[in-house]
Amino acid sequence: MNRYRVSVVHCDAYDPARVSKALAETLAHLNVSFQPGMRVLIKPNLMSPVKPERAITTHPVVLEELCKILKAAGVEILVGESAFYDTDRAFGVCDIAPLSQYAQLINFETQPRRFVSFGGKVGDVPLPEILFQVDCIINVAKMKTHGLTGVTLCVKNLYGCIPGAIKQGYHKTLPDPRSFSRFLIRLQGEIKPQLNIIEGIVGLEGEGPGASGQPIRSSLVVAGASAPAADIIASEMMGFKPDEIYTNRYSGIRRNEIETVGNGRDVRMSFKKPLSANFPYLIYFTSFLPKSQISFNRERCVRCGLCGEKCPADAISIHPGPECDHRKCIHCYCCMEVCPHSAIYLREHWFRSRLKKFAKMVVKM
Ligand code: SF4
Ligand code: SF4
Repeated sequence: MNRYRVSVVHCDAYDPARVSKALAETLAHLNVSFQPGMRVLIKPNLMSPVKPERAITTHPVVLEELCKILKAAGVEILVGESAFYDTDRAFGVCDIAPLSQYAQLINFETQPRRFVSFGGKVGDVPLPEILFQVDCIINVAKMKTHGLTGVTLCVKNLYGCIPGAIKQGYHKTLPDPRSFSRFLIRLQGEIKPQLNIIEGIVGLEGEGPGASGQPIRSSLVVAGASAPAADIIASEMMGFKPDEIYTNRYSGIRRNEIETVGNGRDVRMSFKKPLSANFPYLIYFTSFLPKSQISFNRERCVRCGLCGEKCPADAISIHPGPECDHRKCIHCYCCMEVCPHSAIYLREHWFRSRLKKFAKMVVKM
């Protein structure tokens, strides 16, 4: 029985008319409408202050066309984010600032907070109070690979609701990708976005989600009322087995419970996976293998020190170039995420690399 519906619409350019048409089709597939006077909060992915062409952040044309649709329906619009660093600058560099003609731009770091009890090691998680005051949250993620979680789509995008540097601390509390992914699933259940859109017109493959990944023309807009259901379909289209992604697994949603609609529903791509990705069918086995090591490209590095500042395990020291203490590294890949110059890469352990080739051969047989 299909309990969830996910819309997949083809859209191959950031042309306002084409994007607007794709969004209108998406809303129609999901029977979504907005009433005058509603307060709607859009949560984009503005991970860091980088230009939209890098395909790291939600493209401003998608956000603007969504704002136009909401404005025409008489909705009060808010756009909220807490980037990995420098959120106010991210609004400018990601070309989001012009949206202020339609919406109020909110830096979550400056907002009153509500503490939500997660119990255990995590304790009380601070979230911006505004999330609980609006009538509807629209989560607009970017289609990207991710070193720690395999992909970053709608579920992971909500991690950006946690204000400022507090985010990094959870990597230290939950260094294992499985416990971190369970935390993400719980977090989306607390935030409860009513509409979840994945902007995959140009996605990011390889060593995402930051500047070390490469843009890939994927020409899709994927959306659903359920964030994990939208992620399951999007990760499948990116070439992952849905179960390779822990957040998909822990969502409790099975692939056969999801109905897909739209002219892009049969698309299958092959995004380059991050070196740290799980092996298809062998995901628990993957975690016992030697991890790939953080390495630095000395020619690209400008010695800005950002990687050291954002490393939750204090594993990077700057002298004045960055050095990683591999004994301290918890493999969260925050440093790769934050480096604006793609100067950090993973050096894969030889055993892992050979075993991965072998596993691929076996899976193809
Ligand atoms: S590796 Fe990147 S983030 Fe780290 S110091 Fe060099 S340029 Fe800055
Ligand atoms: S060195 Fe990089 S991957 Fe290792 S703990 Fe620090 S930020 Fe995470």
